Amino acid sequence: MQQQTESSTDIQPDVRVRGAREHNLKDVDLTVPRDAMVVFTGVSGSGKSSLAFGTLYAESQRRYLESVAPYARRLIDQAGVPDVDSITGMPPAVALQQQRGGRSARSSVGSITTLSSLVRMLYSRAGDYPDGQPMLYAEDFSANTVQGACPECHGIGRVYEVTEQQMVPDPSLTIRERAIASWPTAWHGQQLRDTLVSLGYDVDVPWRDLSRQDRDWILYTEETPMVPVYSGLTLREARAAIQKKMEPSYNGTFVGARHYIFDTFANTKSASMKRRVAQFLTAGLCPVCHGKRLKPEALTVSFEGLDIAEFSALPLRELASLLERVITELDSETSATSGSALDENTRQEAVEQRAAADGAAHSAAPDVRRTPNRSAEKRAAAGRLGAELLGRLRPIIDLGLGYLSLSRTTPTLSGGELQRLRLATQLTSELFGVVYVLDEPSAGLHPHDIDALLGILDGLKRRGNSLFVVEHSVDVMRHADWLVDIGPGAGERGGRVIYSGPTDGLAEVEDSVTRGYIFGGSGLAPHIPRTPKGWLRLEHVNRNNLRDVTVTLPTGALTAVTGVSGSGKSSLVSQVLPALVGEKLGRPPLTEVEVPETEDLLLTDESDELDGSVAGDLAGIRRVVSIDQKPIGRTPRSNVATYTGLFDHVRKRFSETPEARARGYKPGRFSFNVNGGRCPTCEGEGSVMVELLFLPSVYTVCPDCHGTRYQSSTLEITWRGRNIAEILAMSVEEAHVFFAGEYDVMRSLTALVDVGLGYLRLGQPATELSGGEAQRVKLASELQRAQRGDTLYVLDEPTSGLHCADADRLVTHLQTLVDAGNTVVMVELDMRVIAAADHVIDLGPGAGDNGGSVVASGTPAEVAASTDSASARYLSVALE
Ligand code: ADP
Ligand code: ADP
Ligand code: ZN
Ligand code: ZN
Repeated sequence: MQQQTESSTDIQPDVRVRGAREHNLKDVDLTVPRDAMVVFTGVSGSGKSSLAFGTLYAESQRRYLESVAPYARRLIDQAGVPDVDSITGMPPAVALQQQRGGRSARSSVGSITTLSSLVRMLYSRAGDYPDGQPMLYAEDFSANTVQGACPECHGIGRVYEVTEQQMVPDPSLTIRERAIASWPTAWHGQQLRDTLVSLGYDVDVPWRDLSRQDRDWILYTEETPMVPVYSGLTLREARAAIQKKMEPSYNGTFVGARHYIFDTFANTKSASMKRRVAQFLTAGLCPVCHGKRLKPEALTVSFEGLDIAEFSALPLRELASLLERVITELDSETSATSGSALDENTRQEAVEQRAAADGAAHSAAPDVRRTPNRSAEKRAAAGRLGAELLGRLRPIIDLGLGYLSLSRTTPTLSGGELQRLRLATQLTSELFGVVYVLDEPSAGLHPHDIDALLGILDGLKRRGNSLFVVEHSVDVMRHADWLVDIGPGAGERGGRVIYSGPTDGLAEVEDSVTRGYIFGGSGLAPHIPRTPKGWLRLEHVNRNNLRDVTVTLPTGALTAVTGVSGSGKSSLVSQVLPALVGEKLGRPPLTEVEVPETEDLLLTDESDELDGSVAGDLAGIRRVVSIDQKPIGRTPRSNVATYTGLFDHVRKRFSETPEARARGYKPGRFSFNVNGGRCPTCEGEGSVMVELLFLPSVYTVCPDCHGTRYQSSTLEITWRGRNIAEILAMSVEEAHVFFAGEYDVMRSLTALVDVGLGYLRLGQPATELSGGEAQRVKLASELQRAQRGDTLYVLDEPTSGLHCADADRLVTHLQTLVDAGNTVVMVELDMRVIAAADHVIDLGPGAGDNGGSVVASGTPAEVAASTDSASARYLSVALE
């Protein structure tokens, strides 16, 4: 290990870590300065997060919890104390990690920044009310409260509907011929049919020949009559049977087709049933609130002529200029009239705001609401709340997010955008003396935007805070006061501090993989752009901020689409391209099929107009595979081994051992997702939840299986000397050695290693994976299939979260896909990677409404020579 530069201890007290052994850390000792920007680097899996988050942040958190709730100590200890001898000098820590796992569509830019509560206050206190309408409380303006939500759609803004055309796609069929396609298949469908017969309907005439009234009743009735049923008879036969008082086969209940769909969708436990009925549902705007999600009274209140939904839909940049204008006007109006009455109101406002934050707004009786529209009191409230809003908007806009609106829902934000929003929110919290622990804050940022980010981080530092940043961006590394390089490799081959000191000193450290990227010498070999097989053209594309964009893309080549954050890259590449090409090929793009929660499906507006067309040479493309950063599963039951399918092969191996055969254990015995071999206490989760009074619940290791997820009898079976739980605890790399010679298992493992995921544990729950890791797991699953050379691969920032060395390996892999005849189109921000593409499209020039156009396109060298492109300057450096 390189010398620890301890001299700076004279300037600031240091944070000292002794004997850190969390995960792969090898008894690490480390001293870093406080009140500085410390950047942790190293290849993926080297142990950066284990040190920064798993040790430093976790310890700070533990001490905090202990101080607030001494009685919880035992439980917290169980839940995870970092494995470290001592940490001294650590200030209280605030962690900003990239979001893992699913996000609620109920949360939005406004709610995570808490700006929405200010806006609701503004409408409650300072809005213009129609004559005679009583004034409303702040919560009356929230779609997430019972008193504010639109009564029709319960605050979702959209409602599901079913149409006759969907339920009955072919009206020339009879009901017996399954005219009602949405009915259940098999016996239940027959039962509904026979029940209809008993109710007197003819099921042997074409659907279109039934009367309107009959058709409507069959499809839409909410009645559920129970009648005697004669299986399989026609209407006439059934009538005869009833007349003869024959014994019915059974009593059957009829449910209308619509009722059946809604009921199944809401209540079924079966994912496949849910998926089946979901195809008959269409989501439409709520007829009452027209998608605004609020009750009618709330929408009648306006501010500057906008209702609160319109106000919240404005880009933050425009919102800021509107507020500036209002404040300027108010200032000039009130400069003459300011007095003590206003001060009193102002104080009251502050008290109330605090009360509202505590969820107790009703207790305060605000005078301001009893005054008429635009009273002096109301104008004062508008001024104060507006100024507060404006102050909080500024850092968000400075971080390059002025194109977002308060109402944008979090599932439509990238991990980077979300993290920067949180960062901007922190900036206005005015904390000092804390350490911010950040996970790749540069993710999703164009080099042009990184300068702004660094400015913000410097601001936090100036205010007396420390920054611990896990980063892959060379620009951020160069900006650091202190660099901690972990490695040299991943997993077992990492976990050591290779260097700790001022950035320049790393130049001397030969073991460091990072060194060559900061100081030159490492990287991809210069790339000579390929000659494309052909060109396809996206024409007249409209989507989000893309307005009538026409763009050409080479086939049989690697294309990188770049541009500043918010310029429209994802809109073009992830949303439009796969959909248009898929439509043209007559089959939808392959993405993971997941059954969303009812509400999520309604709230996410993905079925939007697909406006544009595709032309040109599609001859070499037979399928489209879109590999995005969405989580690979929402439960800890999905993991790398199950997702790639390799676990099926592993379980089979176990079931084929002599001992398993003697005991009659089938492959299912080795699953933790079904009853049988798993631990019954935790149902195969390995952990159980413990509720703590006044604190977030914590998960602790299952007392019965000790986290192995299995019953001891299952664990008695071994294959090559390891039991099934030990297999799940292996990293991909260890498994790659262990399963040597087992072709079907190795195929998946090799693909995972190739995309730089060798450090993941096989049993690592999907919910713990970052968006980038999830994307690479999907890529690996795709790579393990036989390559046919006729696929269009669409990727969104595949290198985010990757060390330069890992990114290089991934790019090399994408190049082999292209060499095999495939087409790859990816959103990319790392200019080193873009320099290795065959074709570059630069979108911009700015973000949101200032973007959405093609600024430059061509080979990397051509784009680097462009005078308009924000990327040109950075790209030409990378091409040198
Ligand atoms: P980095 O942040 O440098 O990418 P990590 O600190 O995430 O690396 O991982 C370092 C090593 O620790 C890897 O081998 C990884 O598989 C392992 N690891 C990470 N999280 C866990 C965990 N929760 N349990 C066990 N091992 C883990
Ligand atoms: P980039 O990928 O270049 O960062 P995006 O394509 O994500 O940019 O966004 C381009 C513009 O479209 C931005 O103004 C963004 O706010 C808007 N936008 C993106 N996705 C959505 C969405 N699902 N709903 C509404 N607006 C969106
Ligand atoms: Zn509604
Ligand atoms: Zn258990």
